[in-house]
Order: sequence, then C-alpha cells, then structure tokens
Amino acid sequence: MSEKKNEAELLKEKLFFESENICKADEASVKKADKFCEGYKDFLNTSKTEREAVEYFKAIAEKKGFVEFDKKGKYKAGDKVYSINRKKAIILCVFGKKSVENGVRLVASHIDSPRLDLKPNPLYEDGELAFFKTHYYGGIKKYQWTAIPLSLHGVVLKADGSTVTVSLGEKANEPKFVITDLLPHLASEQCKRTLNEGIKGEELNILIGSRPFKSDKGSELVKLNIMRLINEKYGIVEKDFLSAELTLVPAFPVSDIGFDASMIGAYGHDDRVCAYPAAMAIFDIKSPEYTAVTVLTDKEEIGSDGNTGLNSSYLKYFISDLARLEGLEGRDVLSKSQCLSADVNVAFDPNFPDVTEKKNVAVLNHGVCVTKYTGARGKSGTSDASAEFMNKVARLFDKNKVVWQTGELGKVDIGGGGTVAMYIANLDVDVIDVGVPVLSMHSPFEVVAKNDVYMAYKAFTSFFEDKE
Ligand code: MN
Ligand code: MN
Repeated sequence: MSEKKNEAELLKEKLFFESENICKADEASVKKADKFCEGYKDFLNTSKTEREAVEYFKAIAEKKGFVEFDKKGKYKAGDKVYSINRKKAIILCVFGKKSVENGVRLVASHIDSPRLDLKPNPLYEDGELAFFKTHYYGGIKKYQWTAIPLSLHGVVLKADGSTVTVSLGEKANEPKFVITDLLPHLASEQCKRTLNEGIKGEELNILIGSRPFKSDKGSELVKLNIMRLINEKYGIVEKDFLSAELTLVPAFPVSDIGFDASMIGAYGHDDRVCAYPAAMAIFDIKSPEYTAVTVLTDKEEIGSDGNTGLNSSYLKYFISDLARLEGLEGRDVLSKSQCLSADVNVAFDPNFPDVTEKKNVAVLNHGVCVTKYTGARGKSGTSDASAEFMNKVARLFDKNKVVWQTGELGKVDIGGGGTVAMYIANLDVDVIDVGVPVLSMHSPFEVVAKNDVYMAYKAFTSFFEDKE
C-alpha cells in the first residue's frame, strides 16, 4: 500500500480549512502548556474576586519593575507602569519604541466572575438556623449553587471608616458555607418546576450557623450568637453589612481533570483564563515596538456598566493621559489602536451538541478561539470585527505559530452573549475577541484545556511583540 496522497487529498489540503488539535499541530507546546498552567492554577486558588486578582497582579507587577503611573511623569521605551481603578481593575502598560501616535496594542480581559453577593442587610434566623440572604451576580443557573461548599470573600467598611478584608473557607481547616437543597424524597413538587425555577433567587440563602447564644429568654439567639462570633473575628456590627461587598464563591480547590490531566476544573475560568495569560504576556515583554497595554477589568458579567467596568471612561482616560505625555489628544491614539478582547467562548460539548453549529464552534485543544462577533439574534449587541482586522490577526497568529480556531457563541437565534469588545470598539479602536474555549461556562466548576490556555498566552505575546 502506498502512503502517497491522491490528487483529491492533496487538493483538499490546499483548498479546505480545518482547525487542528494542538497535540498534532504543535506537539512541542504541550509540555510548555502544562508548565504554564501550574502558575495559572496558583492564581486561580488565590484570586477568586476582582479585588483579589488586582492584588495578585499588582504584587507581580511590582516585582517585575512596574511602578504606579504618574500622568505628569516622563517615560521612555521599555518603562513599565500600572494604574489601579478603585481596587477592582488594573491597567498594566509597557511603553513602546514608537510614539503612541501610532496607537497602542491593547489586550482587555475581565476579572469578575458570576457569584452570590450578600444583600445589604443579609443576616437572619429561621428555624433555629442562621442565614445570609444573597443576590446573585452575573448569569448563573441557580440550581448549580446548592449543596456545594462555598467560601466568603470581600471587604467591610466599618463606622470609623476602616476596612476589614474577609476571606473565609478557602483553607482546609476553615469552615465553609452552603445553600441547602431539598431531599429527593420530598422534592416531587420542586421537580415539577422548570430547571430555571428549580431553585429561585430568594432561595439562595447561605447556611452560616446553628448554635444559639446561651440565654434563658429572648428571640433570635442563633443570629445573636453568629453576630457575636462575627464581631469577635472582624470587629463589625450588623449595620456594617450595609457598607460591605461580601460575596460567596465555590470553595473547591482547582483540580486537573482527566486521566491525562489535560484539563483544569475550577471556579471562574471566565475570564481569569484570559486575564492570567494577558497579564503574563505583558509581564514578559521587554521593549515592544508599540506601547503595550493590558487592562483587567471589573463588571463584565453584569454588562460592563459602573465606574470599574469598560463601559465607563477609565480606559479612555488612561489612554488620554498617555497621549498628553506626548502632547497629543486621546483620540489621536485610540483611532490608531488595536485590541484583542480577551474573553472565553463556548467549547463544543458532545453532551449538548444541539446548541452549537459544528462548523463554527470552538473545540477543546484546538487552540485560542478568535471570535469575529458575539451578540444575539441578528448580531445585536456586539462589535463585528472587520475583515481587514480579522485578516491582520490571522496572519499574525500564523506567522508566530499560534494554534487558533474560530467559534461562534452558539447556533443562530439560540441565545448569545457579549464581551467588552463593543465598548472598546466604541472608542474607535479595531478590536476582535480572542480567548479560551470553556466547558460548563458560568457553572461553579468550569473546564478548560491546558493547551488552549498556553496558546492564549502565545497569542497575546505575539500581539504585543508585533512590529508591523
Ligand atoms: Mn467572560
Ligand atoms: Mn461570562
């Protein structure tokens, strides 16, 4: 039998397009991917909220020689600065050899993830048990958040103006929290509810204690005992919850997934799986041609509104500050700038094949996913990248041996979603979504492939190092 390809096979190779598994396309990168992801796993375990992520990246930035940005400072090529927005978003910047008149290279990713926020007045007692009331943040399937261990993160501002930082339930010896669910024996009525209503918003109540304060008389003694313990530990009183940002997130530690340990299971891959490579890429570049900027933002999961989200002006103001250093206007820089909006996309799930369209869905291990547009229905609520910019990014990735694929966020008219891309596009910047495909997106335990995480790093690095 001849191994020679026949004419049809050769012609197909020349004319057809198909994405390839990284294990085949770039075997040498698999080991690098495993190594790179050890760092990513450490980040996942220590940074479960946007505030914690900002702290994490600030600490690395300072070790790598980044200093706080001074808008009246003097900078030269290779200088590194950071700027933090209200403790919840961070901009990392390395000055390029070219004037910012030529535009900057932006990678934008978000560090907030879906979760359960405490209500302003959360603490109550019912049935001799103490609970916190919550209000969910971002798009979640509520039933997934019951009967799993949860940890408490955030800050409380006290009456004297001082801040208490809370992180409880991450360490093995720390108590955790949970939302109870009904036993199947008594759930026949609950099981008739739709999946969406299986657990309702007002049923997402966190179990936080059961022992009463010792007293002969009086009501709410379990609540009293829990408030006493909270007061002893953190020095706060019930009123202080009004000026707090406390949030419950899944407490499982990060794990490798599969006999081949090729994947990572964790809370909050969306979008820390792009934020980490975006940060590492800017940490590792030396002296880029174009000024490089990584922005790690907040509030994407609730629509990017608010002063720490990318629908606010903080990124525009930062770019304007860079422009002013050279006597330019912000718009002179923005109009010439290019951006990779680094956010996740859906990965093909053989258990649910009907929601995606096979020729236009990302596949695990096929590399970083370039998404021309997201949105819903007739491309509503998105930035549809131009053919010119798509072509530029494709050529850049091919030249730098970045294994990449394309994907849509589901079949036409079946749903949809958005990213920060459109807010950056609205600043007159060329932008396209580039990110990691995810299984079980927005669940308490999302799954990604290590190879794809590493390709995201390679993609962002090649973008920052681009000289054209
Ligand atoms: Mn996202
Ligand atoms: Mn999301």
